[in-house]
Amino acid sequence: MGKIVAANWKMNLRRQSGCELASALKNDGRDCWLFPAYPHLALVHDALIGGALKLGAQDVSPEEDGAFTGDVSAEMLADAGCTLVLVGHSERRHGHGEHGATLLLKLKRALRAGLKPVYCVGETLAERKDGKAREVVTEHLATLIELAAPDRNELAAVAYEPVWAIGTGETATPEQAGEMHAFIRGELAKHGMKSLPILYGGSVKPENARDLMTQPNVDGVLVGGASLELESLRAIDDVAREM
Ligand code: PEP
Repeated sequence: MGKIVAANWKMNLRRQSGCELASALKNDGRDCWLFPAYPHLALVHDALIGGALKLGAQDVSPEEDGAFTGDVSAEMLADAGCTLVLVGHSERRHGHGEHGATLLLKLKRALRAGLKPVYCVGETLAERKDGKAREVVTEHLATLIELAAPDRNELAAVAYEPVWAIGTGETATPEQAGEMHAFIRGELAKHGMKSLPILYGGSVKPENARDLMTQPNVDGVLVGGASLELESLRAIDDVAREM
């Protein structure tokens, strides 16, 4: 049935390069999830028409439309053609100080607008070294558990992204990823989210994609750097399709 490949383009690419990448993936008949920067969303949406890829935003405002300079509302994202949105990416948690209450509001706004969130969790290196990785992930997951039960069924995925592996070239070993994914699966199951896909993110590349995706509870990958090049994204997606 294949695994999920989600591409987080972060603050990279331009209108032309983003659209070219999107069109090439569509022409291949792929069904990845793409997360371009805000100014590229509507154009990438148009480039994807007729294909099976899904479009998502990298963040969403916790507020409704109104006087919030610089913010982008969930309704605007849906209007631009998004069906998915990242919430709680570590670059938002650590770079912008976003935590529980704000992230819960973002989840609720997204769901109300019909967007399906990909909710990111993961510990820092210091937290892992202190033996607190599970504690931190449990704390991050607590935000999801605050959602009403019907809303929990509308999530697209949870992404486990150890902060120490994001953009560093250092990847969790398949065993580390598998162990944390099994833990997350157990926590989600306790709250009726047994079948919610769990993605791994953190320096995924064509060379490590297979070992990560063969772990039993790894339902796919969230890819940053390696998703900016057509060849590496294709190679990762080829692995995902074989599974
Ligand atoms: C990410 O930011 O979601 C990510 C996983 O980035 P990278 O693959 O570059 O580590």
